[in-house]
Amino acid sequence: MQRAPRVLIVEDEAPIRDGLVDLFSGQGFTVESVADGREGLARLTCNQYDLVLLDIMLPGLDGLSVLRRFRARGDLSPVLMLTAKGAESDIVAGIEAGADDYVTKPFGIRELLARARGLLRRQRAHAQQRQQAGAHRTTRFVIGGDASQVTLDADRLHIEWPAGRVTLTPREGAILTYLIGHHHRPVSRGELLTDVWGYRDGSIRTRTVDMHMAQLRGKLKAVPGGPKWIATVRGRGYRFDAKAEPEANAGVYR
Ligand code: CA
Repeated sequence: MQRAPRVLIVEDEAPIRDGLVDLFSGQGFTVESVADGREGLARLTCNQYDLVLLDIMLPGLDGLSVLRRFRARGDLSPVLMLTAKGAESDIVAGIEAGADDYVTKPFGIRELLARARGLLRRQRAHAQQRQQAGAHRTTRFVIGGDASQVTLDADRLHIEWPAGRVTLTPREGAILTYLIGHHHRPVSRGELLTDVWGYRDGSIRTRTVDMHMAQLRGKLKAVPGGPKWIATVRGRGYRFDAKAEPEANAGVYR
């Protein structure tokens, strides 16, 4: 049997925090909760969690700062943001800081659980892939042909070329890797939600794909040839439109 997934809840509003603790405990999760941003960051620094539920407006240290510091340390654990209604700029900033998805308060329990389970499922599948494939995984790609000298490192989460470098969030890295793996056809939003976010529940409605995609495209503008990497195929989704090859010395056959 798999061990119980470990969840950290960072939320200062006691009724919401207690409700979430009850909900996740009742579903067999190992739950820890804190009411303060600094305490949240301290826990994240000391422990490894399978999922983090992070409020944005927090005493001590706000949720966005917690998230930025957490991701800056290279931690890839999925983060689900809890945002206030109408706080659109928080959502954008949160995704920029590396959140995987968000729910707006007041949120439905079923919806929250479906997302939490999806993110966990994806995380586990990813960890398993890493373990099984080991050094034979392809994680470095040369994009746009040899002459372009542009490299994507999907593990270290950056795109590099002789004159510059762009850092990716875990979710952006996952989107790019998925599109490259299916470059021969368009990939729909629904497919991305299922395969990149792990959301199997078709009733989940979220703008998270569009928001991540807008941010990723914004970053690609700085990359040579990058603006042409992801094409929108009307009514069908997105297609990776550049040449992507495993880097010769990337350890694919090591
Ligand atoms: Ca709050």
